[in-house]
Amino acid sequence: MSDLEHFIQNKMSMSHIYQPVMIKKLLTSLGKAHKTEIAQEILTYDSSQVEYYEKVTNNMVGRVLRSHHIVEKEKNHYILKDFEVLSPEEVAKSIKLCEAKIEEFTEKRGVAMWEHRRKNRKAISGSIRYEVLKRALGRCELCGISKEEKALEVDHIIPKNLGGEDSINNYQALCYTCNANKRDTDNTDFRELEDLYNMKDSTCIFCSVNFEKVFENNLAIAFLDKYPVTNLHTLIIPKRHCSTFFDLTQAELNATYSLAQKVKEQIIAKDSSVGGFNIGFNAEEAAGQTVNHCHMHIIPRRKGDVENPIGGIRNIIPGKGQY
Ligand code: AMP
Ligand code: ZN
Repeated sequence: MSDLEHFIQNKMSMSHIYQPVMIKKLLTSLGKAHKTEIAQEILTYDSSQVEYYEKVTNNMVGRVLRSHHIVEKEKNHYILKDFEVLSPEEVAKSIKLCEAKIEEFTEKRGVAMWEHRRKNRKAISGSIRYEVLKRALGRCELCGISKEEKALEVDHIIPKNLGGEDSINNYQALCYTCNANKRDTDNTDFRELEDLYNMKDSTCIFCSVNFEKVFENNLAIAFLDKYPVTNLHTLIIPKRHCSTFFDLTQAELNATYSLAQKVKEQIIAKDSSVGGFNIGFNAEEAAGQTVNHCHMHIIPRRKGDVENPIGGIRNIIPGKGQY
């Protein structure tokens, strides 16, 4: 048995397929291969990458070529129109023309044309990536697939060039497929989103009143309730006018959640008698909502503040606290 065989069979400890792929590539390339060739070999096993380019094929290039009547689609196949009437010379000439176009474009744009694929992973610091993945609990925050099934990427919710902030609230962990889908629609989606996030209602007190803010981030504000149920009762609202919890976007939920953590920590630090919290949203009049701008109530609770706290928010229906 050769040393190599011995290594492969007995010593190679694998956390991925990389080692055997690389050794196989070297074996099939007369013992020597460029790092790019090895990387390309690994890539052939990565179905998530292929899936990304399947999306590109269907949603972008396939659509364009179909609209120009160059190709037709038949289920999962693309068919070049009138291919059968092309002479071998015409086929060869068109191949040459394509190659020339590819070369011309590559020369003009260089590696920059792949920047959109590169950027995301580079721009995000390791610690933010870690925090976002931790918050996502190992699952895509759009479709819920686990990281074991599909690699997760950390991605800006609102792109930086449209004013998206560089904080954990503006990031989400997306699987390869959701991220690819999102990127294909980036332009249209985000122009709408930008308008959406600037929405105010001039008749709404939470849109117009200038609060003394306890905390603030890009999308949400925390301030003290003017008519507190208990001391330090705090409200957290999205900056955008929307009426209930159910209208919040994922980015606003993240922003609200992260202010809630800060508010909680500050209250505990300020007042050692606080032993717990009731946190809640009233949604719609039937549920008692009086201000039509979504707000999270954070109500600090202290031992003995009511005779019998059992049931907490269950007491919104009097007498139903206990079950
Ligand atoms: P809800 O009944 O859930 O709509 O709660 C509205 C909350 O907004 C109440 O807790 C009020 O005390 C509070 N609130 C109303 N007006 C103001 C204001 N101008 N500033 C701060 N809090 C307010
Ligand atoms: Zn409002």
